[in-house]
Amino acid sequence: MRRRFSWLAAALGALGFALSCSALAQQSVKVTPLGGIDGEFCPQDRAFILEDPNGTRILYDPGRTVAGASDPRLGKIDIILVSHMHGDHVGNAHNKAPNSGTCENPDMSVSALPNSNAVDIALAKKSKIVTGSEMPPFFAAKLKANGGDPANSILARFGGSATVGGVRIATVTAMHSNGLDPDYIGGELGKAMKEAGIAGDVGPPTGYVLRFSNGLVAYLSGDTGITADQELVVRNHYAAKLVVMNMGDVLTTGPTEAAYVINELVKPVSVIASHASEVGTVGGKVRPGSKTEAFIKATKVPVYVPLSGKTMEFDAAGKCTAGC
Ligand SMILES: [Zn+2]
Repeated sequence: MRRRFSWLAAALGALGFALSCSALAQQSVKVTPLGGIDGEFCPQDRAFILEDPNGTRILYDPGRTVAGASDPRLGKIDIILVSHMHGDHVGNAHNKAPNSGTCENPDMSVSALPNSNAVDIALAKKSKIVTGSEMPPFFAAKLKANGGDPANSILARFGGSATVGGVRIATVTAMHSNGLDPDYIGGELGKAMKEAGIAGDVGPPTGYVLRFSNGLVAYLSGDTGITADQELVVRNHYAAKLVVMNMGDVLTTGPTEAAYVINELVKPVSVIASHASEVGTVGGKVRPGSKTEAFIKATKVPVYVPLSGKTMEFDAAGKCTAGC
């Protein structure tokens, strides 16, 4: 009798585990672009909020379109990711408020120097800043200098990972540059560097691979050229199913190169275009002749356009389940 009972308990336990696993996989990750103009995809747009089903909210590359720490779209921010230190990603300046100016000519007149938009938001929200390479000491020093906790700057170096708020965060190669503008350094040193035309060394730039609590794996490319790691690491090892792909050309992969990365190297289920450095949409529709249109046409899997403020939801398999 006892043996039969334990067999039954084990069977029920296994069934419960299977059910909870599938329930977990059905939970969605919410992805919300925080761009310059509501409902459009504009030249400066880099920022996203990625929300885990467990409620952990991650702000990726706040850049210039998040209107500082008081931007009402932010809400709670647990984690800030900064792919690299260029002003359009860490935020050397930012919009006065959401929808300041136009899509083509945003009003980004608020300087965030010498701290950066990312640091100002981290201080106000008490967020953890998770970065790779040599960037954590820079952020730790900025937090400390402004009365924040330097321990909130967390390292995830290539091949390793940091788990914060139930989300596993790894950094991956980005073929780009990562000079720290002397404006963030200031003083005599900053002045001398500026005059000499050299930037501070904070190690290589990065992309990110996130594993959310429902099992979804997402690759955030950062600014990058085509890299072998996009196949070897991002696809073969991490098996990313959702990609946020920078595709604006000149500063990062162009539409044709970005489509090659998606079609031949990463092979995800879904893609969100980013960093177009152009007016990508007019009235929420992709502008004919745009790089955004070229990228969508050249890519074999669905490409979703990041319309600012419009939340998209993705399941564990990388399939868009709402808002696309
Ligand atoms: Zn950039």
